[in-house]
Amino acid sequence: MRLSRYFLPILKETPKEAEIVSHRLMLRAGMIRQQAAGIYSWLPLGLKVLDKIGRIVREEQNRAGAIEVLMPTLQSADLWRESGRYEDYGEEMLRIKDRNKRDLLYGPTNEEMITEIFRSYVHSYKDLPLNLYHIQWKFRDERRPRFGVMRGREFLMKDAYSFDTDQEKARDAYRRMFVAYLRTYRRMGLTAIPMRADSGPIGGDMSHEFIILASTGESQVFCHKDLLDLPIPGEDTDFSGDLTPIMDQWTSLYAATDEKHDEAAFAAIPADKQVSARGIEVGHIFYFGTKYSEPMNAKVAGPDGVERPVHMGSYGVGVSRLVAAIIEASHDDAGIIWPEAVAPFQVGLISMKPGDAAVDAACTSLYAALERSGIETLYDDSDTRAGAKFATMDLIGLPWQLIVGPKSLAEGNVELKRRATGEREVLPIAAALARLG
Ligand code: ATP
Ligand code: MG
Ligand code: MG
Ligand code: MG
Repeated sequence: MRLSRYFLPILKETPKEAEIVSHRLMLRAGMIRQQAAGIYSWLPLGLKVLDKIGRIVREEQNRAGAIEVLMPTLQSADLWRESGRYEDYGEEMLRIKDRNKRDLLYGPTNEEMITEIFRSYVHSYKDLPLNLYHIQWKFRDERRPRFGVMRGREFLMKDAYSFDTDQEKARDAYRRMFVAYLRTYRRMGLTAIPMRADSGPIGGDMSHEFIILASTGESQVFCHKDLLDLPIPGEDTDFSGDLTPIMDQWTSLYAATDEKHDEAAFAAIPADKQVSARGIEVGHIFYFGTKYSEPMNAKVAGPDGVERPVHMGSYGVGVSRLVAAIIEASHDDAGIIWPEAVAPFQVGLISMKPGDAAVDAACTSLYAALERSGIETLYDDSDTRAGAKFATMDLIGLPWQLIVGPKSLAEGNVELKRRATGEREVLPIAAALARLG
């Protein structure tokens, strides 16, 4: 993409309304635009990151055996009357009436709807296990929408729903998601720690929140320091095998959110291993058994022919919140530092002298070569002074900057800068391309 033809509305001033660094940087880097309290448009650069996060989530859900669907944002209130949650959910639910005065709501989550789909088609244990997920916008009328997309009212969530014949099999499904989540966050460059958690309005008795430690986090959390260094299960993990050893390794060390905190158990950890910190909830998984299947009559016949309510779990990832959480975890005074896997472009190609025939020619051919190799490149071909170009590239945080100026070019060289470390290296054009390839 040529910057001169892109839509990247960089803000020079630091927006006063933004209280935390990720919100400030997302506004300054032209990633989002607020349309109403907690409701945002995603501008091109922001949308690219959102899509990359969604793609990683999808790949890991699929790897773990979940199957993608897409449910609507609007739901019928009648569905929620069946589970009893239409009245229970409270003020966070946005209730809407259509022209025929029928009650609708903008979905804050989808347990009811997926249960309705399940009960319409699945009646036998032979069709289980089943795990269906979607990535869809949710609406929760938060009392205090704040911190940009970190706590929006409209936000993008991945929510998966598992169906099994009994509790033991449902726990297997839970473990698959637990392991998939460990992999998902690590691929985005994050260390997310699973912590024992309250199940809130979803209900149920087994629940973990995935938490990223950050001073701006809204949760108080406690954990054993060794959790920060545990190895993440590899790509070759067998999701049809027994994942108990992996989950046991993670759950045998102390980790709990405020609501589940046990002072005595925490005090038993050696003092130098006690971590008490603020955290950002980037995911939350639940096992809740027959809480929805029973009232909504979602039953499957077992091998004995007897019909029993199906055992369910649900598994959420805060896809849009992750954009902000990654920035909270990875930035410096100059701006964002994107981990490669979620970076909107891999390389920022900077022309130091647009209009200079040799520089233009080198940039054009570098740009073509990078694009040919599938390396997403933002080519700053604009007629701006060098200082401003560097500041913009640092702000938007692409992993590499490839700088082409007349002096080095005369010797056949370009300069390559790594955003994360600030390291710069002057090297021949071919070597720079090889490094990026
Ligand atoms: P929180 O405690 O932050 O209000 P929650 O516990 O209400 O979140 P869940 O119902 O567990 O949220 O939803 C699954 C995931 O969706 C959360 O782990 C979080 O990452 C994300 N999420 C929830 N509410 C919001 C929001 N208002 N804005 C952005 N992401 C959100
Ligand atoms: Mg909430
Ligand atoms: Mg929560
Ligand atoms: Mg939660």
